[in-house]
Amino acid sequence: MSELSGFRALVTGGASGIGRATAGLLAARGADVAVLDLDPLAPDPLAPDPLGPGPFGHDPLDLGPSAVGKPLRGYRADVSDDASVRFAVAAAAEDLGGLDILVNNAGVGAVGTVEDNDDAEWHRVLDVNVLGMVRTTRAALPHLRASAHAAVVNTCSIAATAGLPQRTLYSASKGAVLSLTLAMAADHVREGIRVNCVNPGTADTPWVGRLLDRAADPVAERAALDARQPMGRLVTAEEVAAAIVYLASPAAASVTGTALAVDGGMQGLRLRPE
Ligand code: NAD
Repeated sequence: MSELSGFRALVTGGASGIGRATAGLLAARGADVAVLDLDPLAPDPLAPDPLGPGPFGHDPLDLGPSAVGKPLRGYRADVSDDASVRFAVAAAAEDLGGLDILVNNAGVGAVGTVEDNDDAEWHRVLDVNVLGMVRTTRAALPHLRASAHAAVVNTCSIAATAGLPQRTLYSASKGAVLSLTLAMAADHVREGIRVNCVNPGTADTPWVGRLLDRAADPVAERAALDARQPMGRLVTAEEVAAAIVYLASPAAASVTGTALAVDGGMQGLRLRPE
C-alpha cells in the first residue's frame, strides 16, 4: 500500500513546473489527484490523450494516466475568479469523493521596483498570488474538515523574506502568503487541518525559462544564474515537489505553521565571496 493511498489531493497551477511535479509525485505516492489550472492541458499535457478543453470548471478533463498509472483529473479555473474556483473545487471534491490535501501553488511573477508597477498590476498580481489562495482554501475548507488527515501547503518563495532587488510586488505578494500560512495554521489547528508553506529559491521551471528568454543572451544568463546559487545550480521542480508532498503527508503530522526552504542554501548560508 502506498504512503498516500486513499488520499485525495487538489493542486492549483498543476499544469506546469512545481505544480505539475507535485501532482505527479502525489499520484506516484498513491493519492488521487486533481489539477486546477487556467489551462490544465498546457503547456505540456500530463497525458497523451486528453479529452479536450471545456468551459471553466464545468467539465472535468480526463488528463489520463500519470507516469505511475494513476488517473489525474484536470479542472479549468482561474484562481482570480471566485465563481470559477468555487465551481472547480466543488467538482473536484465531488469527483474525488472528498479532499484531504490542498496545494495552493498557482502564482504569477512581477518584475520591478515600487515605481515600475501601477495599481492595476498590483491588483492583478495580488489577486492571483494572495487572494487566489484565499479563494481556493475557502472553497476547500468544508471538504478538508471532513478529512482525518487534512493538510494545506502553500507555495511561497524566499522572496517573502529575502529583500530581493527588482521584485517589490512579487516579494510583497509572497510576504502575504507567508503571513496567510501562519494565520491559517493558527485558525485551523484545533480542527486538525495543518497549514504550511514551502519557500523555493530559483527553481528550474518554465517560469524561469520565460524570464531567460527575454535576456539578450539566454544561455549566458542561465550560466550566470546557476553560478549565483550556493550549490552552483537551480533547485529542481521535483525537489520542491518532494518538500510539498512531505508537508502534505502523514509523515508531517506534527508539522504546522512552518515555512520549509528549498533554496539550495540561498537564504541560510553566508558564503564568503571567492
Ligand atoms: P509555472 O509558470 O511553470 O507554473 C505556474 C502555473 O500556475 C501554470 O500552469 C499557470 O497556468 C498557473 N496559473 C497562473 N495563474 C493562474 C490563475 N490565475 N489561475 C489558475 N492557474 C494559474 O511556474 P512555477 O515556477 O512552477 O511556479 C509555481 C509557484 O512557485 C508560483 O506560486 C511561484 O510564485 C512559486 N515559485 C516559483 C519559483 C521559481 O523560481 N520558479 C521560485 C519561488 C516560488
